[in-house]
Amino acid sequence: MGKFIVANWKMNPASPREAKLLALALKKTASKLTKTRTIICPPALYLSLLIPPRPTKKIFWGGQDACAGVNEAETGAISAKMIKNIGADYLIVGHSERRRAGETDKVVREKVQLAVKAGLKPIICIGEEKRDAHGDYLSFLRGQIGACLGDLKKSYYSEIMIAYEPIWAIGTEAHGADTPDNFLHNALFIRKVFAGLAGNELALALPVLYGGSVNVKNAEGFLKDGRADGLLVGRESLVPDQFKQILQIADKIK
Ligand code: PEP
Repeated sequence: MGKFIVANWKMNPASPREAKLLALALKKTASKLTKTRTIICPPALYLSLLIPPRPTKKIFWGGQDACAGVNEAETGAISAKMIKNIGADYLIVGHSERRRAGETDKVVREKVQLAVKAGLKPIICIGEEKRDAHGDYLSFLRGQIGACLGDLKKSYYSEIMIAYEPIWAIGTEAHGADTPDNFLHNALFIRKVFAGLAGNELALALPVLYGGSVNVKNAEGFLKDGRADGLLVGRESLVPDQFKQILQIADKIK
């Protein structure tokens, strides 16, 4: 199976013109790939501008967040349904930057359900703030998975992807990326916990992505040695030359 490479543009770029140029640069490379699925998550404001009338099977679009409420009186909010109706297929849910702004596991769980109901595939971000030598962080991950994904309708579990993003590895203040070995270990753990909720078959099929300071130098290690099903890329997804190389690296992995 091919890899999933997710571009999380966050609050970038500042203008529609730049967004179009960035998308164009990525699309040229992404459309030539044979196995890799590129998922571009621009600010929601740009989705309608960037999603072509006839979407391709290699480039997909996603939102970065959606509102948890079903009440339509939510000033400033955007629903999963709107994101789906504009032509997107994916939704990042529970990113650490949203959790830092107060989003709880309970809210993440609501968003996951609304996303699936709307026809979007949620990319659920989990990850510890600190890595401890005793492995206590694994209990934290188990708790996060249980609270965000416990007791969902059975059919929902096949729509889900998990992005393991240790918080200490994300963004400009990161201590650097995790290692492929650690990722492999943690992804196995995530799959095992997920199996407890969804059963072995769905756990084996669950895509587990790595995110946190991914770049051209470390992408192959995570995908090959870490056996990541894909990558969630922040900063480097805004640098076309770098992101294109990450896509090409992913496409070469057997
Ligand atoms: C992210 O925002 O999810 C992320 C992984 O960012 P970065 O690649 O910049 O660390």
